[in-house]
Amino acid sequence: MTKYVYDFSEGGKDQKDLLGGKGANLAEMSNLGLPVPPGFTISTDACRAFLGSADGALPDGLDGEISEHLRALEEAMGKRLGDSEDPLLVSVRSGAKFSMPGMMETVLNVGLNDDSVHGLAAKADGDERFAYDSYRRLLQMFGSTVLGIEASVFHEALDELKDARGAANDVDLGVDDFRELVSTYKGLIKEHAGRGFPQDPREQMDMAIRAVFDSWNTERAVLYRRQERIPTDLGTAVNVVSMVFGNCGSDSGTGVAFTRDPASGAQGIYGDYLQNAQGEDVVAGIRNTVPLADLERIDKTSYDELLGIMQTLEEHYRDLCDIEFTIERGKLWMLQTRVGKRTAEAAFRIATQLVDQGLIDMDEAVRRVNGAQLAQLMFPRFDTEAQRKPIAQGMNASPGAAVGKAVFDSATAVEWASRGEDVILVRRETNPEDLKGMVAARGILTSRGGKTSHAAVVARGMGRTCVCGADALDVDVKAKRFTGADGTTVEEGDVISIDGTTGEVFAGEVPVVDSMVVRFFEGDEPAASDELVAAVARIMEHADATRRLVVRANADSAEDAARSRRFGAQGIGLCRTEHMFLGDRRELIENLIVAEDIEGRREALSALLPMQRSDFVEILEAMDGLPVTIRLIDPPLHEFLPDFTDLSVAVALEDEKGNQDTKHHKLLAAVQRLHEQNPMLGLRGVRLGIVIPGLISMQARAILEAAAERLKAGGNPCPEIMIPLVATVQELELVRTDIERVAAEVQKEAGVDIDFKIGTMIELPRAAMAADEIATAADFFSFGTNDLTQMTWGFSRDDVEASFFSTYLDKGVFGVSPFESLDVSGVGQLVRIAAEKGRSARPDLHLGVCGEHGGDPDSIHFFDAVGLDYVSCSPFRVPVARLEAGRSAAEAISDTA
Ligand code: PEP
Ligand code: MG
Repeated sequence: MTKYVYDFSEGGKDQKDLLGGKGANLAEMSNLGLPVPPGFTISTDACRAFLGSADGALPDGLDGEISEHLRALEEAMGKRLGDSEDPLLVSVRSGAKFSMPGMMETVLNVGLNDDSVHGLAAKADGDERFAYDSYRRLLQMFGSTVLGIEASVFHEALDELKDARGAANDVDLGVDDFRELVSTYKGLIKEHAGRGFPQDPREQMDMAIRAVFDSWNTERAVLYRRQERIPTDLGTAVNVVSMVFGNCGSDSGTGVAFTRDPASGAQGIYGDYLQNAQGEDVVAGIRNTVPLADLERIDKTSYDELLGIMQTLEEHYRDLCDIEFTIERGKLWMLQTRVGKRTAEAAFRIATQLVDQGLIDMDEAVRRVNGAQLAQLMFPRFDTEAQRKPIAQGMNASPGAAVGKAVFDSATAVEWASRGEDVILVRRETNPEDLKGMVAARGILTSRGGKTSHAAVVARGMGRTCVCGADALDVDVKAKRFTGADGTTVEEGDVISIDGTTGEVFAGEVPVVDSMVVRFFEGDEPAASDELVAAVARIMEHADATRRLVVRANADSAEDAARSRRFGAQGIGLCRTEHMFLGDRRELIENLIVAEDIEGRREALSALLPMQRSDFVEILEAMDGLPVTIRLIDPPLHEFLPDFTDLSVAVALEDEKGNQDTKHHKLLAAVQRLHEQNPMLGLRGVRLGIVIPGLISMQARAILEAAAERLKAGGNPCPEIMIPLVATVQELELVRTDIERVAAEVQKEAGVDIDFKIGTMIELPRAAMAADEIATAADFFSFGTNDLTQMTWGFSRDDVEASFFSTYLDKGVFGVSPFESLDVSGVGQLVRIAAEKGRSARPDLHLGVCGEHGGDPDSIHFFDAVGLDYVSCSPFRVPVARLEAGRSAAEAISDTA
């Protein structure tokens, strides 16, 4: 039979799946000999069995196990649960594998009733006030958590009583007040729950256990898990812990502590203490806490003991821990510990500090930080030294620091931005109609919605700074103003500053400073002496030494190439050539498209050739000695032509005036001819090269002539010519023949030998499935996972993210957009299959990825696992990719250790 209940002495910190985070760590602390109040944990297995049962019954055997453990607990404590003379009281606490702050339930003081309250008082030296205070707390928590009564019902009754007594604080209430409150609360329970408060202590405990199990499925918990991508089927454990009391007088209290500063990583005494209080008072902010350092003055013995314990925990967990503790009449008790959350800055600092303290090695340090944290450190940020006036706190939906004039509708955002103003679009929430305004704005601020709201998702997709769900703001879109909690009013046109990294909103302009970490990557010497930068540099160095994956950049200009090289790129994985046909060159493309004969086409192409060549010379020079993958033209040609409506109007007007411009007529005919209902599925990629003679040979010639020029100048060019959107080997063979012919010509003309490769992108499901055939004509594959995602899911890249992804994310169809993080079970399998098939046909086939996923942490780990040779991402993501590739390798080391 399954064992469902574990004494604290039976568990350990690595059993979070079974015992939840809190239970596993309570067990660990007990076994370390730390002062943990005795208790037991009901496993997540029990929760899953309970939630899965059709009739809401507890699993077989659980009741008996609980009785057995309760008996043992009673024996250990020398008291019986709810005994009228000397009651054992327990807390019933939730504790899932992953912490879900404020989501789940806890009931304290279980075991109190109309009789045992006297016993509690008697054992507390006759302190009836304390006993009745504890009883009313139980009624309040039991009423709201177990019986589902709105918590405000109890808060209002308490406030009324305080008003009537003229008491500012709970501590100003006396025993008679609490006695009265107990009676009021019992009445409220009867009124709202339709049943009386159970006087039987065991019944209280059983009901509380069920309530904790049920709290796994409350709406807010479900939503939180979806947002944080916590699996829904884990369930929670329940911890039954003997009560210790922080509310027994001034020699008692409760507090929280961190073994080091979670904001900066600095070692020291961090935390808060509240005298004569129970834990929930600290969380609820009912009274003001004092800094933990003050405990030294209040109770030196407990303080010294706590410091000793903090050190033990740090050394044992080899990490920053956060702690909850209670002091009952001068005796210290540990109620909880866990490895604490920390800021990005603290994560890097702590990791290297722990290495210096000999607690972890560098592999572990690399595992302790992540790419998302590094990315955060690379955003420009607000100057924290500057004067700032915070007006609200929202959710940090999309990082960055944005300053601009507040505008309240999309049209104004677009209009003001077009005249060069920086604007912040402020809405209660956004919808697809706001998209233009979001694009035009520096940042987006909403008062409603979470991290997967439309605003958040779209802003992240665009890399736009966003703070969402700043619910203290009263946004009046009609009146074009919002009001902060402190009454500050911001009208249209007033400047505000929003911090997408912290979620803060400020009135006025807060100065922005460059990230020190970016300055360091850019080669700025003084930045290297910064303490944070030193920690980042050290971890990056180790990540680079550890990783197997090579990191390249997606760069289309010499400037981007140079920057990405400074950021550590080991080549270019994707140089898109289409933007090179915009601007002045657009006309040449128009000429090519409207050319009626071979001669006209040749003329247009030969005008383009020298321009393309000089583009490539610059890029090859910036990446001298490193591979540069240049992709031939990909988008449908109509993207280079004028808009159909605009052109029709122009032609009609010209016709009317009688000055018929034949070029415009020809262009219009071309636009009509090239129009496609689904251009993404139409004449693009390799298909263009096959249909429009001369285009591919011109581009190939430009690349190879550029390489020849670099060779003659003493350089070491390593060009790789890449063909997009190939579906079948025949396409690749056709263009390969063409390119090889051009290469032979160029080498002969220039009298040099060029070392170059010809390869293909894998962007279509068919290409992935036929990769063994395609590999026979390819020196390399580069996975274009943007298109591969689009084509596999049938999602238009251009439309779906803004149109319905927020609904999909809200409904949990997926936790993250498959355009952002690779869909491993679908698109990822195509990558795996193509890699295997490709290498089976050609073992030396070089494999990389150049879709957006090449810079996404989770995706990078997957690409490492399926054996790609490199990932390629935008220049700014290069350090992130280096770090994640290092982490992936370091994780593999720890898996085999
Ligand atoms: C891709 O499809 O993943 C890719 C890199 O090409 P593009 O984004 O230019 O279509
Ligand atoms: Mg593509």
